[in-house]
Parts: sequence; C-alpha cells; structure tokens
Amino acid sequence: MILLVDDIPENLLSLSSHLKAHNYAVETALSGEDALKKALKQPFELIILDVQMPGMDGFEVAEALLGYSKTKKIPIIFLSANYKDTSFIKKGYQSGGTDYITKPVDIDVLLLKIGAVCKAQEQLRKLSKMKDQLEKEVEKRKLAEKKKDELLTVASHELKTPLTSIRGYHELARRSLGKDDNESRKYLDREAVQISKLSLLVNGLLDYSAIENGMMKVSKSSFGILAVVNDAIRLVQDLFPGYRIIKAGMADVSIYADRLRIEQVVTSYLSNAVKYSPDHKEVIVTLAVSAGRFIFSVKDKGIGISAAKTRQIFDKLYRADDHFFRFQGMGIGLYICHKIIKSHQGKCWVSSEEGKGSEFFFSIPLGMTE
Ligand code: ADP
Repeated sequence: MILLVDDIPENLLSLSSHLKAHNYAVETALSGEDALKKALKQPFELIILDVQMPGMDGFEVAEALLGYSKTKKIPIIFLSANYKDTSFIKKGYQSGGTDYITKPVDIDVLLLKIGAVCKAQEQLRKLSKMKDQLEKEVEKRKLAEKKKDELLTVASHELKTPLTSIRGYHELARRSLGKDDNESRKYLDREAVQISKLSLLVNGLLDYSAIENGMMKVSKSSFGILAVVNDAIRLVQDLFPGYRIIKAGMADVSIYADRLRIEQVVTSYLSNAVKYSPDHKEVIVTLAVSAGRFIFSVKDKGIGISAAKTRQIFDKLYRADDHFFRFQGMGIGLYICHKIIKSHQGKCWVSSEEGKGSEFFFSIPLGMTE
C-alpha cells in the first residue's frame, strides 16, 4: 500500500488514478498531520510526500516519521516544485527521504522510481526473512550442541562405573591365577591392554565434558619431568609393543605443574605418534629447556598432516577426515592437550609434512605461574 500526500485534492486524484491503473493499492492524505496519523495506524510500503503544504510541510512529516520505530523505515519520495535548489535535495535526504521528483510530475519517471523502491523493499523483506530463519537455525543448533554435550557427560559417567568394576574383577582374576596358569595369564595381559585403552577413551570423554562445562581442574606441584615422561613411555610401549620410543635431549628439570595432566598430554602425543605411524615404528621424544621454559616434543615418520589442516589440529572434534575410517579416534585428544597446556600458560604447536611425518610440541614455563 502506497500513501499519497498532497494538500491539493486534484493532484491527489490524478496521481492516485495513475497508480491504481498500474495495480498499486493507494491511500491518500490531504495534510502532513493526516499523513502522520495514517502512517502510524497502518503499515505503508512507500510514502509519496508533497514538500510544500500548509501546516506541517513534507520535511517535517518525514522527520516525525523517523521518530517512530513503526514508521522510520518507510521509504519516502518527495514531490517538489523547487527542483533547482540543492539545499532542498539535501534536506530531503537528511529527513529520511529515499528519492525526490520535481513538479509537474512526469508520471513515467515516478512509476520507475516507485518500481525501484518496491523492488528494494521486497528484497529487504526477503533478507529479513532469511535473517529470522538463520537466527532460528543457530538457536536450534546451539540447543542440539548443548544436548549432545549433556549426553556425552552422562554417557562418560555411566561408562566409568562399570569400567571400574571390570578393572577390579580383572585384578581379582589375576590374583587367583595359579603359578603355571600361563594361558590364562596371557589372556589377562591382553585384557589389561584393552582395559587401559578403554580407560583412556572414557577419561578423554570425562575431560572433554569437564572442559566444556568449565570444570577442568589443575592442581600444581613441583616434580621432575623425566620420571613422568618415562611413565608415559612405558604405558604407550605396553599398549603398542611393536614400536621403539627413543629419548633424545635429556632435560631432567623440575617443573611446577599438574603432574597427572602433563603426563596425560605426553601420553596423548606419544599414542598419536604411534597410531598415525603404521609403517614407521620409531618415535623420538625430546626434552629441552630454553628461555625459562620446558619444551617437549614427539616426532614420528607417519602419515603427517597437510599445512591447511595443521591450523585446526588442536580444535575441538577436529579429525583430518581423509583417513577417518583407517584410524580410530574421537578428535578430542589434542583439544584436551591444548586446554591443559593453556591452563599452564603454555603453548602447543605442530610441525608436519603430509606423507613424511609430524613433530608435536608443547612448552610451559619452568617456574611458578598461576
Ligand atoms: P583422534 O586421534 O582421536 O582423532 P586427536 O585430537 O588426538 O584425536 O587428533 C586430532 C587429529 O589430528 C587426528 O584425527 C589426526 O588426524 C591428527 N593427528 C594427531 N596426531 C597426529 C600425528 N602424530 N600424525 C598425523 N596426524 C595426527
């Protein structure tokens, strides 16, 4: 619906009959005050506003329309006899007008301008509809993400209980073994490896949900890093007996950190190095100290990572997808490492070449930090 405003009834009559002939729905007003009242009462797509009117002139009406949220976005085309005065044009735009046309009105030009405004309005409507749909979609996804995290938290806690029982029964079974029960011992050893793998997975899930809920705790103390690295190497070596893990650069320093968390990061780096190197079974671990920081790295000659993917490698749930089905995993290990190291004011990074191997690093300050 278009609102035509002019104080001369004949002008209104002639314009509205032209517009109606071109299938526009038209409403008319004979004064600025009347126009304002009508615009506040019902929505208009466009207002064609005569500038010179007794009482409220066209600019005053436009300025008043700008003051109401209901009317401030309605486009206005001014009609004026004063076509040479540029200050009129400026004033028209400043008071919220979209365009202007001089009198006597060239009806073809006016129709072109109306067409352009209506088209722009239509596009704005479509954009605003799309924005609403997108906002709804974002809300929906946020909710789904929240539900997924809740499920993960519940699932990981539910898994932890039976896993603890399995571990207990495993220990009981081991204790009740006869001296020469070698066959059963062999099976129990294999079972122990699987229990350790399962524990790593469940603990990973528990850590992930703790991080997502802002509940990850670190408890720092001073300890020697070499013993921690040796424990992690032993664990990974037991899980993957075919691999050689070599230590280079011995920096046996004391660091102030969360011992279990640092061991977790070292174990994650090591087990990834092994997991993603199916054809080269050698992994090199380096411990170094530089500029007051402890630097740890694990180097493998495995499948490597392309430059484009290394940027996201410490992101949540990121997996380099082209080997998705070849290597099992959840894509949360490095994310957890990154969060742990960050909570120690440290840094994680990787240097890698696709097909040639990777070296994963972290560094943390040696001394006390909060
Ligand atoms: P997961 O191994 O469970 O997928 P991580 O968070 O530990 O999850 O690792 C994320 C991704 O980083 C892996 O899916 C893999 O694509 C890549 N990645 C990690 N470590 C290595 C490595 N040593 N060599 C090659 N790719 C690796």
